[in-house]
Amino acid sequence: MSVRHATMGAVSASSPWAAPRTQPDRCPGLLRPHQAADGALVRLRIPGGVISAAALTEVAAVATEFGDGQVRLTSRGNLQLRSVPVDAEGDVPAEMVDRIAAAGLLPSARHELVRNIVCSPLTGRVGGRADLRPLLAELDARLCASSELAALPGRFLFALDDGRGDVLPLAHDLGVLAVDAEYVRLSAAGAVGAPIPLHRAAGELLVLARRFLARRGAAWHVRELDGAPLIPDAGDPMLPLGGPLDFGRLTQVDGQGLLSLGVPLATLTADQVDAVATAATRSGSGMLVVTPWRGLLLPDLREDAAQPAAAGLILDPESPWRNISACAGAPGCVKAAAATRPVAALLAGTGCSASTPGVHVVACARRCGAPSGEHIQVLAGPSGFTVSGPSGRPDINCDAAHLAQVVARARNGS
Ligand code: SF4
Repeated sequence: MSVRHATMGAVSASSPWAAPRTQPDRCPGLLRPHQAADGALVRLRIPGGVISAAALTEVAAVATEFGDGQVRLTSRGNLQLRSVPVDAEGDVPAEMVDRIAAAGLLPSARHELVRNIVCSPLTGRVGGRADLRPLLAELDARLCASSELAALPGRFLFALDDGRGDVLPLAHDLGVLAVDAEYVRLSAAGAVGAPIPLHRAAGELLVLARRFLARRGAAWHVRELDGAPLIPDAGDPMLPLGGPLDFGRLTQVDGQGLLSLGVPLATLTADQVDAVATAATRSGSGMLVVTPWRGLLLPDLREDAAQPAAAGLILDPESPWRNISACAGAPGCVKAAAATRPVAALLAGTGCSASTPGVHVVACARRCGAPSGEHIQVLAGPSGFTVSGPSGRPDINCDAAHLAQVVARARNGS
């Protein structure tokens, strides 16, 4: 664990105020797919990124049968499927909904869009001040049991940080930061309250969520509320700089092994899903965790598992795939001016994406999927690229032949 500290100012800095909302959010789900250029996009919420190998296997089978065969990981530790057909009403096939529900991934149809919870992925297994897995399960169950809270916006995010400072810096609405194994501080859009017992945390978070609903008007986020803050700020928690996980092998507190796997461009093929699911079932507890950095944890291993690396998932912390990401781009996105994923693969192939700051490739100014921290942006257009960042550097236009060189120079400040 790093001993560097960030102030909560850094937390709120990642949460820019939004302009007044004029329309409801349109976050996609299984029951509310988003129509993209390549068919419908479906998002499956998996709170805390926790999913069984059996459920992930079924998602991959559904993706193969109804979509493009790939399972994408999102920055909230959720899953997305693309190229799904819809009927005249815009609904995905009923059989697909039934299979996802049977896999346990749709416990409440009314709450599908509001089960947005990120949690420290290693909690209870490696490091951290507390095991927040029971809180994660309780919060999700009580959220789904409240008909009132089904009205939360689809972008509203709970963040449960076990004290290592990894998920609280994500732009969240409500959250907790563990102080020790028994106490947490509540967080509401950057304000952090006084310590309360951990066993009260789920109830208090839902009280705050109801207060938000009572005051929200058209707001999507706590930070957009007018008037008094939801909780009094009890002072800077001196948040440790947790940050994204490195890839590699870790040892859990119970002595079992854990693989932190990189997923190139956050996209799992059917073979890769089969590899991790087989390893989780044969050598682990049958559970997997999707991280908010679009990686995958294979925990509770009684023995090493070779299948994921053999299938192309990444264990090398120096991999050139470590610091590169891309939006969907063409042909999947109707707004895309160019393809993005081949550009990211090209940069990974040159090795220039291995160091920091990371590189994010987009194909329009919406910058979908951009990392929250400092990074270099490559904007792909029909006739070349614009490289921006890190902050303070002028934009540079270039062609494909010079892209890797320009990115390297931007990173080195030369
Ligand atoms: S950044 Fe633009 S091109 Fe890329 S996915 Fe978003 S809208 Fe589409």
